[in-house]
Amino acid sequence: MKKILVIGASGQIGSELVTKLREMHGGENVVAADLKKLKKYEIDGPFEKLDILKEKRVLDLIKKYDIDDVYHLVAVLSAKGEDNPMFAWNLNMDSLLELLEFARNGIIKRIFWPSSIAVFGTDTPKDNTPQNTIMNPDTVYGITKLAGERWCEYYFRKFNVDVRSLRFPGLIGYKSLPGGGTTDYAVDIFHKALKGETFECFLQKNTRLPMMFMPDAINSILKIMTAKHENVKIRSSYNLAAMSFTPEELYYEIKKHRPEFEIDYKPDFRQKIADSWPDSIDDTSARIDWDWSHAYDLEKMSSIILENLPKHFKF
Ligand code: NAD
Repeated sequence: MKKILVIGASGQIGSELVTKLREMHGGENVVAADLKKLKKYEIDGPFEKLDILKEKRVLDLIKKYDIDDVYHLVAVLSAKGEDNPMFAWNLNMDSLLELLEFARNGIIKRIFWPSSIAVFGTDTPKDNTPQNTIMNPDTVYGITKLAGERWCEYYFRKFNVDVRSLRFPGLIGYKSLPGGGTTDYAVDIFHKALKGETFECFLQKNTRLPMMFMPDAINSILKIMTAKHENVKIRSSYNLAAMSFTPEELYYEIKKHRPEFEIDYKPDFRQKIADSWPDSIDDTSARIDWDWSHAYDLEKMSSIILENLPKHFKF
């Protein structure tokens, strides 16, 4: 049985990924590690308090549990990263390089590390953005993700390290709160709608961005990590897509369920970040190479979130 370590296990992706991995591999075989512990993980299993920058402690944990695969989900996200660019650079890069070195030295077998649509910038073609195109990211977060992608491919080509990566669009879940990204509005808006409050949106109404419902994101991680080695042909990071929408389109979708819901638009510094990102993504390579497909569109996602959010938060 595979032994798995998820670092960043209490975050938006980690909290849901741990559940799925524990369903697949058994609770005791999936170690959740994070700076902070969740009150409860849906399926029980080991938890270790961990600062990923403490390399010796990471190594001790890998040895203690005889870990094969590491899912590395720690990062300073796009909006937060702009507050302290050097911290974002150090955390995002040092943590990835530490794990790539462990894999190079045969200490772990496989790494999953997410990239982001933040690798693209204002010079990138906006519609149906290709896998390989002009990048030039504008944020420190995007710079760390693009540099990380280059390191992943380098370690694969040079040292045959089995690292797999996806360029996630904005992810929308209802089980946890987002961690400081530019697409966080698309989670917050559901909370305000259910509280019966007017939503103040930090992006303009017509800002179109690529987005994905969390169950699709979790499925994509499981799919790429179980794909045959030779089918994972891109070793920097795969473009990945599900839907694209604007704040106004999301608002009207929610209004179908909550007719009294109101929105105000007050763009802040995040507008500039959003303006530098694509409107939609061409993910043909993922669909061909390892059979990726998404299951949720805006309509389906919105009704599921409105139904299930009150089970996880009090309104
Ligand atoms: P998140 O901020 O919700 O979770 C990150 C977790 O890492 C948190 O639980 C935090 O406590 C933990 N952490 C922070 N510093 C740590 C440290 N030094 N040591 C150990 N743990 C630490 O982030 P997320 O949304 O779950 O994103 C996970 C990954 O996916 C990141 O690499 C992010 O860049 C990428 N990604 C996310 C999105 C999105 O929309 N959420 C989109 C694209 C890419």
